[in-house]
Amino acid sequence: TARAEIQSEKGKQFDPQVVDIFMQFSENDWKQVLRNDAVFQSPSGLKRATGELDPRQLALADHIQAMNKIVEAITSSLDIEDVLKKALRSLVQETTVTGAGIFLHDEASGEVRYAADVLLPEQFKQSVDGVDLNTLITRGLMDDEQTRFCRDLREIPALVEAEVPDARPDWLSYCCIRLSVDDEKMGILVLFSEKPHVFSADEQALFDRVGRLLAQALQNAQAHERMRHQAITDALTGAYNRHYLDDFIEIEVRRCARYERPVSLLLVDMDHFKDCNDRSGHQAGDQALKEVVRILHLGVRSVDMVARYGGEEFVVVLPETDHKGATEAAERLRLLIDKHDFPCGRLSASIGVVSTDYQNGDKPDAQELFARADKALFQAKEAGRNQVVAWTRR
Ligand code: GH3
Ligand code: MG
Ligand code: MG
Repeated sequence: TARAEIQSEKGKQFDPQVVDIFMQFSENDWKQVLRNDAVFQSPSGLKRATGELDPRQLALADHIQAMNKIVEAITSSLDIEDVLKKALRSLVQETTVTGAGIFLHDEASGEVRYAADVLLPEQFKQSVDGVDLNTLITRGLMDDEQTRFCRDLREIPALVEAEVPDARPDWLSYCCIRLSVDDEKMGILVLFSEKPHVFSADEQALFDRVGRLLAQALQNAQAHERMRHQAITDALTGAYNRHYLDDFIEIEVRRCARYERPVSLLLVDMDHFKDCNDRSGHQAGDQALKEVVRILHLGVRSVDMVARYGGEEFVVVLPETDHKGATEAAERLRLLIDKHDFPCGRLSASIGVVSTDYQNGDKPDAQELFARADKALFQAKEAGRNQVVAWTRR
């Protein structure tokens, strides 16, 4: 049965070359293997067809296999949440760990916050009687150079002092591993076992290696995220850039047209912005542009998208917003800008508004919407600036 199974999985589960060599064993060889296996299971004999294997080597083989599985989990995806979850799951499956969690270091607050877990005891995620176990156990760990092992949780003085309820037989051993690359602190890996005194020296070495790999994966993910962010935002104002705007609006306009849902677009151009630079210098002008973006964000919903279209021109995309809603939003933004005290004094903006209503089969694409917004903006400038003009069919 085993032979047939191996043969049928050739090239699927098993390497075909290995299967071919395997199949060269005679029936007698197979029986030999089975007999030896029986011998192997008894504590006295460790002799196998392949030669002598001591328990130390067998443990090492297990260790390597576990490590391979965990590495596979860590390298299987670019999505960091997926990576963390898979790594924790394989730790629980391949080692004596019965529950595992990852807490990430938040640079701004200096705290560690929960990120992912597999079968982590609930007590660990919440505070019990006002005592946050997570804090108790991980306190100071970020400054520790070394991994912390605890063979029996009942021996931790801090927990004894804090009189944390002792009925906690479900996580007696734990191990906290600091995740860091060079001097950069990334977070903490926490591993539990239901039993006391279970983590062997081999496993502790494995946990350390897994910790190093996870820290590296976290750092890569952060670098990747930073680069992705830089690629789609404008360096001066932090608003989305033209490149991202073009992609976003293309998708949004098409999605809304398919379901005949409204979408609106505001084209915002600062009035006499050249004067701002001439009056107070280019740096004040730059600062003013940053403040404009902050104001635009303040005045719209989080689903709305603010982008820098060019120099002192901005686009706001308002998904699921009709003509009325968009005109109101534009007016609100115009007023906010008009009232704000900029580094170069008072400024105003002219805003062109366009919305889709799909009447009489009108389905403008993104390019046509921009052209219409541009026309409306031109009219706002012509009419004396500091105003909102909505595009109309006439
Ligand atoms: P209006 O739109 O009301 O017709 O007048 P305007 O002065 O705003 O005219 P226009 O749109 O033609 O000129 C835009 C000016 O914005 C030109 C430039 O001095 C300024 N500007 C564009 N980009 C930047 C920038 O990144 N930083 C600064 N400081 N100024 C910029
Ligand atoms: Mg302009
Ligand atoms: Mg202008």
